[in-house]
Amino acid sequence: MSHHIVISDRVQAMSESETLKMAQMARELKAQGHDVISLSIGEPDFDTPDHIKEAAMDALRAGHTKYTPVSGTLDLRQAISDKFKRDNNLDYAVNQIVVSNGAKQSIYNICMTLLNPGDECIVFAPFWVSYAEIIKMMGATPIYVSADIDSDYKVTAAQVEAAITEKTKMVLFSSPCNPTGSVFLHDELAEIAEVLSKHKNIMIVSDEIYEYINFTGEHVSIGSFPSVKDQTITVNGMAKGFAMTGWRLGYMGAPKEIAVACDKVQGQVTSGATAFGQAAAAFALRADMSPTKAMAEEFRRRRDMVIALLDDIPGFRVNHPLGAFYMFPDISFYFGKSDGKIIIKDSDDFADYLMTQCYVGVVSGSAFGAPKCFRLSYAASDEQLKEAIRRIKEVCARLK
Ligand code: PMP
Ligand code: GLU
Repeated sequence: MSHHIVISDRVQAMSESETLKMAQMARELKAQGHDVISLSIGEPDFDTPDHIKEAAMDALRAGHTKYTPVSGTLDLRQAISDKFKRDNNLDYAVNQIVVSNGAKQSIYNICMTLLNPGDECIVFAPFWVSYAEIIKMMGATPIYVSADIDSDYKVTAAQVEAAITEKTKMVLFSSPCNPTGSVFLHDELAEIAEVLSKHKNIMIVSDEIYEYINFTGEHVSIGSFPSVKDQTITVNGMAKGFAMTGWRLGYMGAPKEIAVACDKVQGQVTSGATAFGQAAAAFALRADMSPTKAMAEEFRRRRDMVIALLDDIPGFRVNHPLGAFYMFPDISFYFGKSDGKIIIKDSDDFADYLMTQCYVGVVSGSAFGAPKCFRLSYAASDEQLKEAIRRIKEVCARLK
């Protein structure tokens, strides 16, 4: 290694994305010839529906190959504005919408726009891995408010209230939640909104990227409560509901000053998202939603199957998620146990144990702020899920 290369303090202090790392490890083991089942990355196993692909190809043929406005084409922002109204009872005008290269970039733009060093951001734990690292990248401090399996991994309004200080600038959470699949119901969000409405200097960032994978029949956006409407930024994207992870298209609706600031950030960093992708996204948001509904129904069916299989493993405490496509079992029963060679001290050891002993890729709960758990994505075929869980059961039986 060259002695001239010195990585910045900021990047040295950052952790690698654990979800992407586990997915990469699975790919590498597979390339070495191992029979790996990767349930690590959060990505629908379905292909993008054909009508959306066709729309992208039509857009390419029609010459949508140039730079677009930084915040996205007017047509896509209009489609998003209409979608927010139609699905979420949210009023965001086109100049309050910014389209980005994935919802991950939306969250980055928001943190860059709002957080100064020393500011605090309340994060509901378990949380999606990248929240904590993006906040830290800004020199701000994530303040974790945690809930375990006994409360279905959902924090209460009282917990949020107790975490607020004069430094609190933002509250960030996802519902349906990655990694737990938990869904905040109307009354739970109403209570949180009531607490936060008393603190107008705090922005609420509501990550709703799993909106359409919700088995309760009702998705509630916290921004639809009038008391917090003006202090809420709603993040969403095409990746999960439309099986478009590789297209890199996310978006936000925000108060206008924040949208303008995010446009400024993005204009210096990446510019607008892909032109023909945006055309296809506008088409998808306006098109018949039955393919999305069919995918969500399939996830619900698999969830029921996976719950039954995991429940059958001794020591597993299995949650019953109402959305997304993740299971988040508490496996702390195995801490301190050993197969005679390997001792399981924590969830990192447990995830490593599954990967090395039976080639099943999952993600350790510690990456999500929940060190008693692990995350399993059930966005995989029935055969893969059954075989993976059979292997997990087998290697867990060796731990005494
Ligand atoms: N938020 C959550 C909760 C996620 O799980 C993900 C991962 N897909 C993202 C945001 C980022 O999504 P995108 O692929 O659109 O960047
Ligand atoms: N969000 C997905 C996950 O949690 C995709 C990977 C990532 O961007 O972290 O696995």
